[in-house]
Amino acid sequence: MELWYTEEQTEHVRLSLKVKEHLFSAKSDFQTVDVLDTYEYGRLMTIDGLVMVTEKDEFVYHDMIVHTAMAVNTNIKTALIIGGGDGGTAREIMKYKNIEHVDMVEIDKLVCDVSREFFPTISSELSNRRLSLYYEDGVAFMKNKENIYDLIIIDSTDPIGPGEGLFTTEFYSDCFKALTKDGILINQNESPVYDQFAKEAVRANQKLKKIFPIVKVYQAQIPTYPSGYWLFGFASKTLDPLKDLKAEDWNNLGLKTKYYNTDLHLGAFALPNYVKEKIENG
Ligand code: SAM
Repeated sequence: MELWYTEEQTEHVRLSLKVKEHLFSAKSDFQTVDVLDTYEYGRLMTIDGLVMVTEKDEFVYHDMIVHTAMAVNTNIKTALIIGGGDGGTAREIMKYKNIEHVDMVEIDKLVCDVSREFFPTISSELSNRRLSLYYEDGVAFMKNKENIYDLIIIDSTDPIGPGEGLFTTEFYSDCFKALTKDGILINQNESPVYDQFAKEAVRANQKLKKIFPIVKVYQAQIPTYPSGYWLFGFASKTLDPLKDLKAEDWNNLGLKTKYYNTDLHLGAFALPNYVKEKIENG
């Protein structure tokens, strides 16, 4: 009998992947985590029935959530990852020798444990000595932090369940305070195609604009996320992601990336008109 994983992406749209084997399922205090071995996308981790990472397309998301900021400020030394329990974001940041210290705050230890066991190529840097891993709520962790991080990456689940607080004005404002003078905040910003996600992307963008002087949106193609077209937010105190791109410096680092490059960086901020309109007009 054929086994299929089906995600209800919206009330009217589903994604189905043919599955070789259902490898793991467990429920934590926060959510249910599953691991499936699929034919096309390799191993897949879901949280509460929604795709988090697949072995085949995780590189797109993790490259774009990390290198876009690192190429705008090549002097980033301290970073904070909120969420990101699979470890892909930590893996990409650790490619930089300049990075002295990274704090990672993941609410659910189970996600890290599962990734260590089933996704060794994604979780490979979770034990790096430059990384401190805290199993705490990112919203509470951000309180009363001042001028500490050059970069904050919000690698969260959707704004439901434990991830909800990571999309609020109060939280973004705590992040602003915790950032250093040229600090950059990156957040995963949902898809512009289906209304329910687009609304969240617009709301998050409007909230960031109330707090940060520079707020831009950029895009990537991630096949297993709803619609396959995903947005990220770039918010900064001083740096513009296009004018301040240090293409030469970044290329001189000689890092190996599978998706990101500095030509693509420029294109990623060139949004289609319907996305621009949605973001500007709500
Ligand atoms: N790439 C993924 C996506 O966009 O679907 C996100 C991956 S990552 C696994 C998201 C992580 O955020 C989860 O492991 C979840 O436990 C964590 N998370 C959710 N709410 C959180 C909170 N309030 N504080 C810290 N981590 C949180």
